[in-house]
Amino acid sequence: MAAMALLPRCAECAAPYPSQTNPFRCPQCGGVFEPEALPAFDPERVEDDAPGLWRYRHWLPSAEGRPPLWLGEGRTPLVPTTVDGLPVWCKLESLNPSGSFKDRGSAILVAWLRERGVSHAVEDSSGNAGASFAAYCAAAGIAATIYVPAHAAGAKLAQIESYGASLVRVAGPREAAAREAGAAAAQGAAYGSHVYLPFGLYGIATLAFELVEALGRAPRAIVLPAGHGTLTTGLWLGFGALLAGQSITRPPRFILAQAEACAPVYQAWSGAGESIALANAASRAEGIMIREPVRLRTMLRAVSSTGGMVTRVSESEIEAGRNLLGRAGISAEPTSAVVVAGLRQAMAAGILGSNDEGEVVVIISGHGLKSS
Ligand SMILES: [Zn+2]
Repeated sequence: MAAMALLPRCAECAAPYPSQTNPFRCPQCGGVFEPEALPAFDPERVEDDAPGLWRYRHWLPSAEGRPPLWLGEGRTPLVPTTVDGLPVWCKLESLNPSGSFKDRGSAILVAWLRERGVSHAVEDSSGNAGASFAAYCAAAGIAATIYVPAHAAGAKLAQIESYGASLVRVAGPREAAAREAGAAAAQGAAYGSHVYLPFGLYGIATLAFELVEALGRAPRAIVLPAGHGTLTTGLWLGFGALLAGQSITRPPRFILAQAEACAPVYQAWSGAGESIALANAASRAEGIMIREPVRLRTMLRAVSSTGGMVTRVSESEIEAGRNLLGRAGISAEPTSAVVVAGLRQAMAAGILGSNDEGEVVVIISGHGLKSS
């Protein structure tokens, strides 16, 4: 691995990530590893002839002397539309190779597993991360086993299998699949967790770099779906690096959208009581049905320190958002479509920062073809 400054530390006990093995949690205390001491983003060091997000290699924990693991991720389009008369830019992460933003993380995470000599890796996912992980493992020559909740959508499962990964369906909530993957890891398999392992976050951070390069400044607000918090955390790291390198003067307001059926981030942010249902109800936004978000702390920090907000979106609002995007020619899966209602709620609350400079960006995190 290059760039020692990028190595993560345990968020609880500050132990550095081990130089040899590949634990998914801190072996000392069980804490979550987080990137630390991130270098500043340096526009002078962007390699314009490198593919996709590898043009930001100076900022990524990449293996020296090896070709990048690249399937076409990154450099996704930023297309304009309007929501209730407000001009909005849609960042089409849905057009990454496996159809979701997860590919940015998988490119870096799986390259890192390859560097550690991993030949078989397990992962758990509600669908998109599993499909992405399977694709990059296939490209890296790593055998993959993906644990998925039995209720995950059929299209995503077929996609995972199409990449040659083994699929294990686990009954029960999303967390049950994570427990099974963890049990396999305890028996010696490498757990390539996109949630716990911090390496993919660097890849997701490149989303912030692309936005600022395309717009010439930070957006005034970004609206995104919130589950475990990897998308928020990656963007938070990226805007932090842009701030440190003085490419921007302030981060955008972070506006997070959750499904009403499972809204623990909203609950923590708003101080709401137990009245908010947690995952007992069903939702079409299956990718963000996360009862115990691993990166909750960072999500709350990103929202509170930027004057943003957390919203919760009903099933009918999800459908309305999906229809609005669809009528504009943009195909989003329901998990992604929460951003429309999130945006509307932020407009109604008057916190879009109309006196701020910059544009409003919504992240289209996953393609509509992934769901029926
Ligand atoms: Zn620790």
